Amino acid sequence: MAIDREAIKKHIRGILIALGDDPDREGLKDTPERVAKMYEEVFEGMNYSNKEIAEMFNKTFEQGLDTITDSKDMVLVKDIDIFSYCEHHLALMYDVKVSVAYIPNGKVIGLSKIARIADMVGKRLQLQEKIGSDIAEIMETVTESEDIAVYIEGCHSCMTARGIKKNNSKTVTTTFRGEFSKDKLLQMKFLMGINNRPAD
Ligand SMILES: [Zn+2]
Repeated sequence: MAIDREAIKKHIRGILIALGDDPDREGLKDTPERVAKMYEEVFEGMNYSNKEIAEMFNKTFEQGLDTITDSKDMVLVKDIDIFSYCEHHLALMYDVKVSVAYIPNGKVIGLSKIARIADMVGKRLQLQEKIGSDIAEIMETVTESEDIAVYIEGCHSCMTARGIKKNNSKTVTTTFRGEFSKDKLLQMKFLMGINNRPAD
């Protein structure tokens, strides 16, 4: 399934007309084309299933004996910056920071790959909770570890730009799988690891 650029152009033109504007005026005449191109980029993740994203970034390496210290040692990548769009309003989610942890089960994934998985999952229409569960599912496939945690905080422009303007309100969601859902101490270790950063 590929994104239909021509159909997006046509519909954006329709929206401009519905807004009471003239889609042929100078400032707007190329807008449908620009929006369609932008949509192809910001919704790139909609072209792929979780399984396909896992295949794209499944470069793992076997853990050498010398690197195995404590099997309960989590690997944490924090504050990955991504963008997404909410499926209820097609509104931008911004200032989104994703932190992902897993307990290696013999397979180690490159840290930059985790960031690229989060980035690709962000490029879909969804709710913030879904970003967390999709990242967890892909991480599970790639690392073959069931012990995954995902923390996400982000601003939703559908909340911050309209209605009650709580400009700095952030939505926080967590996804815990495997040991992370059973072991409260491990959860705390994860959350403390994320929050252990200089105040901004
Ligand atoms: Zn929304």
